[in-house]
Amino acid sequence: MESGAKPIDRRSRQISDQPSASDVKRPHLPSVDAVLRDEATAKIVERFGRARTVEAVRQVIGAAREDRCSLSIDEAIKGVASILKETNVSLLKTVFNLTGTVLHTNLGRAQLAEEAIDAAVKAMRHAVALEFDLGGGKRGERDDVVRELLCQLTGAEDATIVNNNAAAVLIGLNTLAAGRGAIVSRGELIEIGGAFRMPDIMERAGTKLVEVGTTNRTHLRDYANAINPETGIILKVHTSNYRVEGFTKAVPASELAELAKQNDIPLLDDLGSGTLVDLSIYGLPREPTVADAITAGVDLVTFSGDKLLGGPQAGFIVGRKDLIAKINQNPMKRALRIDKIRLAAIEATLRLYLNPDTLAERLPTLRALSRPVEEIENLAIRLAPEIRKMLGDAFQIEVIQCASQVGSGAVPLETMPSAGITIRPDNPTSGREVDALSLAFRALPMPVIGRIADQAFILDMRCLENDSAFLSNLKSFQSGGKYST
Ligand SMILES: *Cc1c(COP(=O)(O)O)cnc(C)c1O
Repeated sequence: MESGAKPIDRRSRQISDQPSASDVKRPHLPSVDAVLRDEATAKIVERFGRARTVEAVRQVIGAAREDRCSLSIDEAIKGVASILKETNVSLLKTVFNLTGTVLHTNLGRAQLAEEAIDAAVKAMRHAVALEFDLGGGKRGERDDVVRELLCQLTGAEDATIVNNNAAAVLIGLNTLAAGRGAIVSRGELIEIGGAFRMPDIMERAGTKLVEVGTTNRTHLRDYANAINPETGIILKVHTSNYRVEGFTKAVPASELAELAKQNDIPLLDDLGSGTLVDLSIYGLPREPTVADAITAGVDLVTFSGDKLLGGPQAGFIVGRKDLIAKINQNPMKRALRIDKIRLAAIEATLRLYLNPDTLAERLPTLRALSRPVEEIENLAIRLAPEIRKMLGDAFQIEVIQCASQVGSGAVPLETMPSAGITIRPDNPTSGREVDALSLAFRALPMPVIGRIADQAFILDMRCLENDSAFLSNLKSFQSGGKYST
């Protein structure tokens, strides 16, 4: 017997289809059993499982009882199907990133190249020679898949890969300087966000932070004076999300490398985003390349896979063979290693770098970053009237020039000229209209994420490639979607 189902309800439903006087107080409700016995319910059970279906049936009947509404079996089944479909929607929704920040950490950073996606899908579907030497038939190393490519692209002797750049810094410090001092400039004690603060990472790596210099100026002699027998490592950190301006001094990698060499102490350079190519050839602001750091004599360079490189989340460590070997022997390596899916995607992404001429076309990150502003503007001009049509008259809709940024801490202060569409409520009264508008765009079947500035909702068109999908998505505004003024 299903609890909560009153026999009297079932009886009354069977006896008469006409509401009697007492029905005004006691609505017609089917029993849980009756709904579950229905043929249409069987299909729902098959798809969602019995337990979830029973729970949804109870929920629907319970809600009707609370509202004192009658409910037919068909109506109950419809309600059950809609509840279960809703709860079955993935919470990791794909969205349109129209924020103007190309590598948005909260929106998953880089979108992968088709080549990388194909490779990842293959690796998901099949067994792969991940740690298997096909020539010798023996065990191999998973990093072998990309080691040579990384060395070729960076000029480094050796390379290894871990879960992300934070992990790369962690394992680098722990391997080379656990129980010893790590010298770092006060101007480079960064917080990246998401709880990545250099002093905290150092502590977890078991190293002692040795701060040198001041916030704005650090000299070579500051590093030199701090070196003692306890020193385990010198750390250089790319100040990727801020810039100290004015009376400043930082020591270039080449000078630090010399000092490190003289004292036989390894120098690790955390480049953050890093890049494998000189972005200025694509008309973008220059960001330090990994090869530059290697050429400067840095012993180990760490950088991210899903920032400017345009691949999946990963952390790369490239540099001296003996140091990389030590890192690979650290038991942390196993805890921080990456899986076959990402490894496949990384390999395919790195291969694209072998042909710099087609890179900007095939790598979505670089394609978005180097997109001509005229093209973005034309897109905005084409879409603005369509958006006006969808939203109705209560808004001023304009094409504007705006500025996009790279994001994820790469070239933090430089922006790229872009174009977008601003949507402004015609007669703002409550002051909450723009928030409501932004919420409505986020509630679309494929949420559209823009930004709010100057009491307007702004959609930067730089990252929009599929405009027909964008427009058909907006149609749910017209079909009485979730938007109302
Ligand atoms: C982004 C960044 C990190 C963290 O890299 P993840 O790949 O996000 O773990 C570390 N250091 C610097 C300088 C960074 O810019």
